[in-house]
Amino acid sequence: MNLLPLTPDGQTPVRALTIAGTDSGGGAGIQADSRTMALCGVHACVAVAAVTVQNTVGVSGFHEIPPEIVAAQVRTVVSDIGIGATKTGMLASTGIIEAVAAVCQEVGIGQAGEIPLVVDPVAASMHGDPLLHASALDALRDTLIPLATVITPNLDEVRLLTGIEVVDDPTARKAAVALHALGPRWAIVKGGHLRTSAVSTDLLFDGDTFHELTAPRIATGNDHGGGDTLAAAMTCALAHGYSVPEAFAFAKEWTRRSLAASYDLGAGHGPVSPLWRLHTDPQGNEI
Ligand code: PLP
Repeated sequence: MNLLPLTPDGQTPVRALTIAGTDSGGGAGIQADSRTMALCGVHACVAVAAVTVQNTVGVSGFHEIPPEIVAAQVRTVVSDIGIGATKTGMLASTGIIEAVAAVCQEVGIGQAGEIPLVVDPVAASMHGDPLLHASALDALRDTLIPLATVITPNLDEVRLLTGIEVVDDPTARKAAVALHALGPRWAIVKGGHLRTSAVSTDLLFDGDTFHELTAPRIATGNDHGGGDTLAAAMTCALAHGYSVPEAFAFAKEWTRRSLAASYDLGAGHGPVSPLWRLHTDPQGNEI
């Protein structure tokens, strides 16, 4: 695996923006995004959409940032700092989703502009705690997903967005077609949560061709933040000019290694960890 190139000290690196929620436990959300972006050599800008009250056992509440403040964070960063790619994660409410969709169109993020947009349609934590009001699903489907370069739902989010229960390859393909019909340039159905299989197979669909990627499943309960890490790594690769299939292949391997390096934390699910990058050479070999 070739890692993304690091910028020499003192030179300005590629920039990416995450629009998402914080995790006070430091495992998922903006904390996971920032860790992966930094270790991919990318300067991470953040637009905070919600503050979650969370540890490794669960999410006990969240505070929503006013939609106009979320949009203002995006506007102010893009106009000054310049952004190579953007990712959305937890957006909590209809008002925030609509404000983010509007500002993305205004500043050229997403399919209508120059800046690739990865939409990770975060709906709930792995413990089942809601991170999105149920009424906001329509806003996600109608306003934000149609702008996306790529969407990266897990299987629960696929079911919420399309009504399709993915249990095998034919249902995964059916779901990819249904997701693509919502308007993103690419739809990805992540098989990582289909725990009946010894391998983890993901499906990419651009409305024309299916691309399939398979990797051995890493058995660990410490997978908190895995979805964020995958979408963040993809965002970094897109910011470096990779195509969507190339970016996904990079992100899948990044996430596989981060799952392998995950650690115990607290009494619940520990986080995936991209810290392996600190002792790895640019070709991906341990040093
Ligand atoms: N908290 C925040 C702020 C998140 O963005 C996410 C996922 O995107 C989660 C929690 C849930 O992460 P997990 O499903 O890995 O527990």
